[in-house]
Amino acid sequence: MDQLQETEIPKCVMAVVKVAGRCNINCTYCYMYNSGDSTSVQQPKRMSDDTVAHLVGRVREHCLAHSINRFTFILHGGEPLLAGMDFFRDFVAKAKQVLLPEVKPLFGIQTNGMLLNEDWCTLFGELNITVGVSLDGTKEAHDMYRLDFKGLGTYDKVVAGLQIAQQSPALPHPPGILCVQNVDADPLNVYAAFKDLGVTNVDFLLPDHTHDTPPPEAHYQHSPHAYADWLIKIFDTWFYEKEGTMRIRFFEFITGTILGCDYDFDSLGFNKNELLVVETDGGIEALDVLKSCGDGFTKAGANVATHSFDDAMQTELAQLYHYSHIRLPEKCSICPVREICGGGYIPHRYSSINGFNNPSVYCNDLLKLITHIQNAVIDILPPEIVAETDLGKLTYDEALAIIAGELAKKEDPAHTFELESFKQ
Ligand code: SF4
Repeated sequence: MDQLQETEIPKCVMAVVKVAGRCNINCTYCYMYNSGDSTSVQQPKRMSDDTVAHLVGRVREHCLAHSINRFTFILHGGEPLLAGMDFFRDFVAKAKQVLLPEVKPLFGIQTNGMLLNEDWCTLFGELNITVGVSLDGTKEAHDMYRLDFKGLGTYDKVVAGLQIAQQSPALPHPPGILCVQNVDADPLNVYAAFKDLGVTNVDFLLPDHTHDTPPPEAHYQHSPHAYADWLIKIFDTWFYEKEGTMRIRFFEFITGTILGCDYDFDSLGFNKNELLVVETDGGIEALDVLKSCGDGFTKAGANVATHSFDDAMQTELAQLYHYSHIRLPEKCSICPVREICGGGYIPHRYSSINGFNNPSVYCNDLLKLITHIQNAVIDILPPEIVAETDLGKLTYDEALAIIAGELAKKEDPAHTFELESFKQ
């Protein structure tokens, strides 16, 4: 196992646990099964009892060593509900038995929603598992990519499952939604569709592209920041709405960070990422979405049966992910919005030529979106409050000019070698 010689041993407070190694649908953009990585289909169908026991033991060992008193398990897949109801009962019981009272385990699940019914909601309520559902807005947007194995759209079944969960008396909170941004769909229709469904909590994700597999050129035909333009249409509606009740994490993170709040968010920001992924066979990896960088890219040789979380946190890719908003490429290190953007989500920085020594493939979008939101926030603040801060308005073009001017003077950052360690 490759290890870096780090003096600090970084900590992990959340694990994405791949409890099921298969999925019951076949989304064409899926980073696990349809992005060129062949390792996911070799995983066992379900995590074994032995692997669960090793996993919770490793979590206990790690939490006690780092004085962590709350640890979050995100139960994931494939499609996690394929693991079956008994698996979840046993998993939660085992985690509580091993971790309590020193460490409080918290549980969430991310499902495609196809199998959600009242029995599942009752179980999640009993086990105190918060529920997230993947839904890409309108039927048109969702059914472009989220297909079953016959190539048919899954929207109708997902919405049926979502509505059962929204109305279930067993769940203390309605499900949150993960929505992959689809710029071929009308953004305001997507926003309206979520409102019509009574959704109260959404997170928008930029599609998983790297510099080797960039977003389609056609999307940037009319604008160099088409993904920002799409999000800005939703932001402007959401931000100025008088009676809005929907929480949108992507926007709340940016507005909150501009105002000085300190949020953890692995896609943006300036914090260290304290997360690991545990595969169905117990393999410990940095971040599952990095599978989109190449076949077998995330394999680091660590497994809960044989390695501690400390071992796993010291593998090269885990270190790069952990410090991805701190060890920035040259352009990001002089960017005026770097403390909000942090170079973006690490998979989006990858190229086989430079490894992770690139700004996000969505750099123009992030710069446009963040400057737009910053200016909108400043506009609604009383001038005396703005005067007490170092906040200042900045247009996208001004930010580009600052970056161009500073880049001419700047030398490569000291960590360039590490950022390039995964180049081919
Ligand atoms: S906007 Fe671009 S240059 Fe600035 S931090 Fe983000 S990715 Fe880097």
